Amino acid sequence: MTDSPFKFCSHCGAAGPAARSYREFVCAACGFRHFITPIPAACALILDAQDRILIIRRAHEPGFGKLGLPGGVIEPGETGEMGAARETREEVGLDLPPAAFTPLGTLTNTYLFQGFPWPTIDLFYVARIPDFAAVRNDPAEVMEFMACTLDDVPLEDFAFESNAEAVRQLRQKLLS
Ligand SMILES: [Zn+2]
Repeated sequence: MTDSPFKFCSHCGAAGPAARSYREFVCAACGFRHFITPIPAACALILDAQDRILIIRRAHEPGFGKLGLPGGVIEPGETGEMGAARETREEVGLDLPPAAFTPLGTLTNTYLFQGFPWPTIDLFYVARIPDFAAVRNDPAEVMEFMACTLDDVPLEDFAFESNAEAVRQLRQKLLS
């Protein structure tokens, strides 16, 4: 039994599109096909001149009160870099251009949204700034922020393993 986010057909309104696979659900009445596809999200690893990283404490679910990186779902028309720049501006008030964000890598993640664990693909970007003096967190999204050396990031308090793994990868990359 595959759990489905599609309780009704979005085309004709008939109940219960049937699972054809773990990611495809077909309406028996009209044949309309619904898919579970990964949602792209952009996350920012922002370093200061001392290689300290900007860590945020989340002010909303999922992961309320847990730690993470500035980031969020990429909007229509945005590149990953544009999404990283917008989320960074919205969550921590830093106005950086998309070109300031360099790709680090991608990791899969799951995001509990409206009761369904949607798969996401997290795109990680690194940006460097002199210091964090201009950081202003939006309290609706970010309870507080902190600067951590890469060896002292409390990864066990992260909301998402993908974010913790990205920090590990960045640490490894800077060491090599
Ligand atoms: Zn239908």
